[in-house]
Amino acid sequence: MNHLDVITLDGPAGSGKSTISRLLARKIGYAYLDTGAMYRAIALAAKREGVPLDDRMALKHLCENINLRFVMDQDPPRLLMDNEDISEEIRNPEIDMLSSSVSTVKEVREAMSSLQRSISRHVDKGLVAEGRDMGTVVFPEARCKVLLTASLEERASRRYKELLDRGKTVTKSEVMESLKRRDHQDQNRSLAPLKPAPDALILDTTGMGIEAVLKRLIAHIAAI
Ligand code: C5P
Repeated sequence: MNHLDVITLDGPAGSGKSTISRLLARKIGYAYLDTGAMYRAIALAAKREGVPLDDRMALKHLCENINLRFVMDQDPPRLLMDNEDISEEIRNPEIDMLSSSVSTVKEVREAMSSLQRSISRHVDKGLVAEGRDMGTVVFPEARCKVLLTASLEERASRRYKELLDRGKTVTKSEVMESLKRRDHQDQNRSLAPLKPAPDALILDTTGMGIEAVLKRLIAHIAAI
């Protein structure tokens, strides 16, 4: 792992971290790892198989028997679960809260963290890893750590627009309520809660365009 240059981007839902991480990775020629997609995959599998979200042993078993693989040479990378492309299905709003709930389970976090580190060992040049605990738990040795934030209002607007673009019927207030609940759960869980690493740059992207955020990050990466 020591040879690998890792950049971590953590942040709440709608902070823009997926878009920014993907563009940043493309710009600097690094691989991109979307760890939220992995928790979403476990939530989808649990839902399909009717596994209760409080059945830790069943969730552990599910994680051990699932084959998750990113197709990294596509942009954005596709996520395959047992060879099925689940990239679209995991973005459905009902998976938002389910993924937040499965991610509170110790056995699920252990399995996903270990898979994330293992994926990083197969990357050549560098890695942009996005999630909630990239800088604090999974890659604490990363050279550059960033926590992206934005106001609740702006995050809800971004998420609302994204869902409308994908043809979903939701109201803005539903989106805001769902974000609030998810943020609360992600920030207050006992294991790997969303919080900045002590050495993270905290960047509030409220009112900033994508290009401005990218420029700021590239300058920061070059400077440290
Ligand atoms: O980033 P995204 O919104 O797709 O993540 C879905 C859920 O997965 C989050 O709400 C969070 O609970 C969980 N997650 C996590 N740790 C990560 C990435 C995501 O707990 N590193």
